[in-house]
Amino acid sequence: RHYNFCAGPAALPSAVLERARSELLDYQGRGLSVMEMSHRSDEFVAIAERAEADLRDLLAIPSHYRVLFLQGGASMQFSMIPMNLLGQGGSANFIQTGVWGKKALNEAKRLGFACHVAASSEANGHTAVPGEESLTISDDAAYLHYTSNETIGGLEFDYIPQAIRVDGNDVPLVCDMSSNILSGPIDVSEFGVIYAGAQKNIGPAGLTIVLVRDDLLGSAPSTIPSLFDYQLLAEAGSMVNTPPTYAWYLSGLVFQWLKNDVGGLEAMDAMNQRKAQKLYAAIDGSRFYSNPIARQNRSRMNVPFVLADERLDALFLREADEAGLLNLKGHRSVGGMRASLYNAVPEEAVDALIAFMADFEQRRG
Ligand code: PLP
Repeated sequence: RHYNFCAGPAALPSAVLERARSELLDYQGRGLSVMEMSHRSDEFVAIAERAEADLRDLLAIPSHYRVLFLQGGASMQFSMIPMNLLGQGGSANFIQTGVWGKKALNEAKRLGFACHVAASSEANGHTAVPGEESLTISDDAAYLHYTSNETIGGLEFDYIPQAIRVDGNDVPLVCDMSSNILSGPIDVSEFGVIYAGAQKNIGPAGLTIVLVRDDLLGSAPSTIPSLFDYQLLAEAGSMVNTPPTYAWYLSGLVFQWLKNDVGGLEAMDAMNQRKAQKLYAAIDGSRFYSNPIARQNRSRMNVPFVLADERLDALFLREADEAGLLNLKGHRSVGGMRASLYNAVPEEAVDALIAFMADFEQRRG
């Protein structure tokens, strides 16, 4: 297999794909594939429960949080969150640090909810996360939403914001962790809602994971679709309708890989730290490659960089591809390159990329 630096759908651990292949036609002697099982069968319910238990274990999720396995992508949460959390009124507050946070804000606005931008890094071109002291939480804030890692800009929070209104009350923190969940340990109890599309660090596309604190359930108006109501989804064990069963199963295999092969999120964290540090050091040590992000906010998962001469972009990508280094093209909105270093990207892949970059610079720079 080649090294895949895709931002999403991203690389999956080879060991997970091997295991899925070995169980593809005949799951553990049952004579059928997981894809062909009823979601209500004992076999599938056991798979689903095991996945949830392993995820709870990995992230040390407290018992007063529900774990939902949903469809619709992280983008559907841009609507579901205001629908569920603004049922009693109030406004959604946002910290804006890039493309995804903006989409979350625009979707809430589109639905007619009151929105307030509590802080933004727009003035610095989203190259540094706003300091916590610059947060202005509105008096009617029902929650504060932020994107812990902006996948396109390569900007990652280096702190967990505290959302405190002028009246001194805390408001729940809602975090889009699509592109850095499971990259290291987090304190789930700091959050009201955490959500993530699966297709980076969790599993294949088609599944979205939402962690919701119990006290935030049950305030959605009855006029919203039942498939959008966290309370109903939680009560039904995420099975109001047919869930994405195969993506759920594969994600469960990724959780087992993280626990058993990697050794948990502390070990994953150390590996991710090493991978990112190496690549940023190579970029900073060269006069040919550059990355614009403030050092403390450089993403460990998505490393955008540009070449000194953009006319060489196409050649760089072609040669990288030929060298088995796939999907390095930057997002169409920013250009240049982007290397996504999610959990399943091995350290050797980063070493190979760095060696390729040095060689390319020497020959063409
Ligand atoms: N939020 C972030 C941070 C993302 O990176 C993405 C996708 O790349 C999304 C949201 C949208 O996810 P989905 O395609 O699952 O709706």
